Parts: sequence; structure tokens; C-alpha cells
Amino acid sequence: MASEQSDVPSLYAAREPIFPKRISGRFRSLKWAIMAVTLAIYYVTPWIRWDRGPAMPDQAVLVDLANRRFFFFWIEIWPHEFYFVAGLLVMAGLGLFLFTAALGRVWCGYACPQTVWTDLFMTVERWIEGDRNARIRLHRAPWSLAKARLRGAKWAAWLLIAVATGGAWVFYFTDAPTLARDLVTLNAHPVAWLTIAILTATTFVFGGFAREQICIYACPWPRIQAAMMDEDTLTVGYRDWRGEPRGKAAPSTTKGDCIDCMACVNVCPMGIDIRDGQQLECITCALCIDACDEMMDRTGRPRGLVGYLALSDETAERAGAAPRPLLRHVLRPRMIVYAGLWSGIGALLVAGLVLRSAVDMNVTPVRNPLFVTMSDGGVRNAYELRLRSKQHDPRSYVFAVTGEGAEALTLTVEGEPAGAVTVPADQTLTRRIYLTAPPGAALAGGETSPITLTVADTDGPARSSVQTVFHGRNLQ
Ligand code: SF4
Ligand code: SF4
Repeated sequence: MASEQSDVPSLYAAREPIFPKRISGRFRSLKWAIMAVTLAIYYVTPWIRWDRGPAMPDQAVLVDLANRRFFFFWIEIWPHEFYFVAGLLVMAGLGLFLFTAALGRVWCGYACPQTVWTDLFMTVERWIEGDRNARIRLHRAPWSLAKARLRGAKWAAWLLIAVATGGAWVFYFTDAPTLARDLVTLNAHPVAWLTIAILTATTFVFGGFAREQICIYACPWPRIQAAMMDEDTLTVGYRDWRGEPRGKAAPSTTKGDCIDCMACVNVCPMGIDIRDGQQLECITCALCIDACDEMMDRTGRPRGLVGYLALSDETAERAGAAPRPLLRHVLRPRMIVYAGLWSGIGALLVAGLVLRSAVDMNVTPVRNPLFVTMSDGGVRNAYELRLRSKQHDPRSYVFAVTGEGAEALTLTVEGEPAGAVTVPADQTLTRRIYLTAPPGAALAGGETSPITLTVADTDGPARSSVQTVFHGRNLQ
């Protein structure tokens, strides 16, 4: 039995460490710029202040879980307006479809947090341990004081970045300066500590050690993207018709342009060889393009042996034609449909934001009893009112009832003899309201009559109306 088991090949393969080499070039510069912008947005945003008035949070971007609000500069989203967030998520999904259909896994290669933080961790690693060859030597060297010092410095730097990353995340959920003070004085809520600890650990492990394994094994996107790409999608590829047969010899009629220098492989953060064709592991970071272009420049060959190319261009390119221009690949019916849907949803969201009222009203007729006959023969209906004022200062609201015969109705608000209510800034007020029809009124002797209740801000344009009913005495 034991010998049978030992004959079975192991399905486990240990990770082969990857030591990407430093490279400069157009795409590397673009990646630096995107990295700087995305990291700056992430770390700085919670510290931007935004004056909304004395009773309101002054943090520009805040997910206020305690009060169930989302603040984004001048926009405030309440829980019942979650459709705005849903709309944004749909737009993000469509945007991803659009970019993937046009440029393959451009999100993975440039803007995915896993890519950005791994890139940051690799940069720190390079500063401390040196470039590819120095890191390979260090990896193979036995443990020594020098190796321990370099590894310790690297891990300490990674840990600092990981703590800053976890720390920045919690600042989005509460007032950042207050939480920072609470963290420094060790008075922060345990949930804040726990969140920081979890995000610190995941950032440290994902960016420092798991790296490309997250992209290959944990992320579903590489599998999904294949369904979104077609033969017109521009993606990073190797022009084998130009490069093969590869070889180290000087340019000749018997050799292709690839000098087999391995520069494209050595810079690849996924550790793959683009000359083997398109692979699931490729995140289209385009660093191999920079590496190969540098080699082509050095050897006096034309750039673009490794470059962005589309399957639909291959036949023509093999025959010696130039690739079609970028716009011909991007302006396709599919892309126009995606862009149209994206813009349509965006326009609807903007219209919804602009047109929404600063006050919302919910009115629920009390059903038990449906009406009360007063001692004088009049009929009274009661309603549960929820008045949501999204204004940033206390506001006074008055009510009006309209409908056939509604002019005879008298409206009173429980606990508010003046009939008007004052709602504190950004709060919801609940009250019971009563509508009373005098004895001889048509609504008092009728069945169920539709009416409209309107609330209006006494000092501003905000108003809201709801349709409801008034139950008369003849109700069957
Ligand atoms: S093959 Fe090129 S584009 Fe793909 S991950 Fe490697 S370096 Fe980036
Ligand atoms: S960098 Fe260019 S020339 Fe060098 S091995 Fe890669 S494809 Fe060939």
C-alpha cells in the first residue's frame, strides 16, 4: 500500500519565486503615474474636509454606518437611495467590460489594487535588496547577518505600508482626525483595531508573498475576461512571424528579430514568457513591451516585436501589412453599445441626483380603526407620517391636502398645535397626523376617496407629495 502511494505523482507544485527586473519605458512610466494617482486618492481622500454645516460631518468622503449615510463631497446618499450605489456598480461593471473588450486585461495590468500594491512592494524590495540579480543571489544565499538585516528592513517597510493601508481604510468609515487621535491614544473602538489588523495582514501577505498567485488562483477575473475579448481586442502579444526563428546571432536572413535575450521574461511580474502565446497568467502590464523595445533599439531593429496586437490583424501583418489603427479596433458596434449603456446609466443617475427632492414623505393610513366617527358626526382618519429632511439645517414644513372634496378636511399633527413641523438637520421625523371631515362634508359620508398630501418647506423650494385615501362612514 505504502509503495502504491509513493508512485502517485504529487499534484502540489511549490511556488517558483519571481524576481522581476527593473525596466523603464512608456508603459512603465504610465504604470508609475497610475500608481501615484491611485495610491494618493486612497490615502489622501479621508483627510479632505467638506463643510456641510454645523450639525453635519465635515469629511468629504464618508461611509457613515452609524447614521446610515454615504457622503461624497456635495452628494449625500440615504439607505432608501441605494439605487444610486447600485447604478454606480453597474457602471463600474460596464466600464470593465468596455476596457476589457478594447484592451484586454488593462484593469489587471494597471489599476487593480493587487497590481498596484504588489508593484509598490516590489519597488520597496528593489530599493532595499537590489535589482533582479542581487535578489536572486540573496535568495540563494544561506542565512547570515547581512541577509537577516536586508530581509528585516524589507519586511519592516512592507509592514509599515500594510498598516498605513489598513489604517487608511477605517478612516473612510468615521471622522478621520478623531479616529487618528483615538488610535494614537489607544482609545479607538475594538472594531477599528480588528479591521486594521485584518487589512494589514492581508496587504502584507498578498502584496509581499502571494503576489501573482492571487491573480492566477484566487481572482475569478482571468477566467471571466476570456468571454469578453474577441479577435479585435488589443492585447499584449509576440509577433512570432517577425521574431522566429529566434537566436542570438546578428541580424541575418536566416534569423528572426528575437535575439532570445530573455529581457521580456526577466521583467515579467508573472514570470511567464510572452513568446509562448497568450496565457491566463498575463495581466497585460506591457512591461515586456518596454523590455523588448529597449532591445530592439539597442540592436537597431524596429520596435514592436512584442506589442499590443489584435488577432484580426494577424493574417494581414503576416503578409507584411501594417496593423490597423487603434481607433478601428476601439470604435466597434460592441464598444459603442457598452459606451452608450454606460453613458445612459450615468445620465440617469445624474438626472436622479439633480431632480431628487430635499424632503421625502411616507404616509401610511392607520388601519385599525380605518376611521373614527366624532361626537359631532364628523369623520376622522389617522395616518403614520415619516418625514425625511435631507437639508443641512433645521427646517419647518407645512402640509396641504388636495383632492375632490378635500378642501373641507382639517389637518392636525399630533403634538404640533400649529400644524407645521420642524425637522432637525438631516433627520427623519415620525408623527401621527389626523384628517377630519366635518359632519356634512361629502368625504365624511362617502366611501374611500383618493386624496393627495403635500409637504412643503416654509423657507425653500423642497416639497414632496404622496397619494393616499380618506375613508368615509359609508365604507363597506
Ligand atoms: S507577459 Fe508581458 S504583459 Fe503579460 S504579465 Fe508578463 S510582462 Fe506583463
Ligand atoms: S525581449 Fe524581445 S528580443 Fe528579447 S527575448 Fe523577448 S521577444 Fe526576444
